[in-house]
Amino acid sequence: MRVLFFLLFTSNFLFSQDSAYVRDVIKELTTKKYFGRGYTKNGLKKASDYLVKECKRNGAKPLFGLNYEQPYQHPVNTYPNKMDVAINGKKLIPGRDFIVKPSSGSVKACFNFTKKDSVTYFAENNSVKCKIVLQKKLTYSVGTKLQLNECEVQLLKSRFTDEIKTAKVNVEAKFIPEFNTNNVGAIIEGENNDSVLIFTAHYDHLGGMGKNCYFPGANDNASGTAFVLNLMKHYAKNKPKYKTVFIFFSSEEAGLIGSKYFVENSPFPLSSVKFLINLDLLGTGDDGIMAVNGAILENQFNLLEKINAENKFVKEIKKRGKASNSDHYWFTEKGVPAFFIYTLGGVSFYHDIDDVEKTLPLTKYKEVFQLITTFVNEL
Ligand SMILES: [Zn+2]
Repeated sequence: MRVLFFLLFTSNFLFSQDSAYVRDVIKELTTKKYFGRGYTKNGLKKASDYLVKECKRNGAKPLFGLNYEQPYQHPVNTYPNKMDVAINGKKLIPGRDFIVKPSSGSVKACFNFTKKDSVTYFAENNSVKCKIVLQKKLTYSVGTKLQLNECEVQLLKSRFTDEIKTAKVNVEAKFIPEFNTNNVGAIIEGENNDSVLIFTAHYDHLGGMGKNCYFPGANDNASGTAFVLNLMKHYAKNKPKYKTVFIFFSSEEAGLIGSKYFVENSPFPLSSVKFLINLDLLGTGDDGIMAVNGAILENQFNLLEKINAENKFVKEIKKRGKASNSDHYWFTEKGVPAFFIYTLGGVSFYHDIDDVEKTLPLTKYKEVFQLITTFVNEL
């Protein structure tokens, strides 16, 4: 009995430590300090510094020669300052009442609207254009192109029952042609170092909109980032079967830019990669998980299903074909066998200010972690 108790205590203790670590990482990355891990207030760089610190602490070696960072540049449109919109004389809350279309330029003007249809309004003032679109849900993204002299304001429909008549808009856009950012990568040697196993997650999110509103991105993708850090911590203590690489991409939300740069500038031949697992949106799991490329990589998918059936980790593993919906995509295009795993069910906040740590359940975190570590061990 004592032994049994001890074992139970030990395994729960070990896992609870990992859970606590994952929670801590998600909490940290979603604080205002990182400002949505984007393009204003140095948020993305601060997140990168944090990840480098964690890689060092976990004892993983740098992937890019002496560096954990792989720098590159890309254009991006940002809103570092003014984000003031008033509709029919009432001042609105950024992120809550409205978002701007991420390609909108700087606009400071008053507008009188003409209704085009039940959800669209147009106005023009001294050749400056403004468009209003009413939407059921506000879903933000990142713009890499700037449209001058035009502003599109998207309003949350449920908060605007009256006709839209006037708007006072003061939005300051700052287009950065060469924004400096970097991927972060680390490596842990394995038993057999001829083959490489890769775990990836994007650490960026949408950044902010104005001085106070930011998108925390707890599920997208502080959860996947924490998952990969947890894997790193695990393999630092338990030597992996193969050489294991951990990559945190930046600028996924801006169009899979970091992962594209990586595959074009990989520090090792991609032909040596045995398998890659990309983790993005790992915060739920009530309805199981999805394996993108599961419909193409039959053998690997069967192995994943077999392990799950034996251990009953998650309710269901769904599969789909090729999809350019996250960072695994460019690897797939280069012929690297890869799964993109995301959890299904549970909370549905997505690309909005409500994707916060507090309501992120991490329902099947432990089970998905066990499923993936067992899977790569049997590859
Ligand atoms: Zn994502």
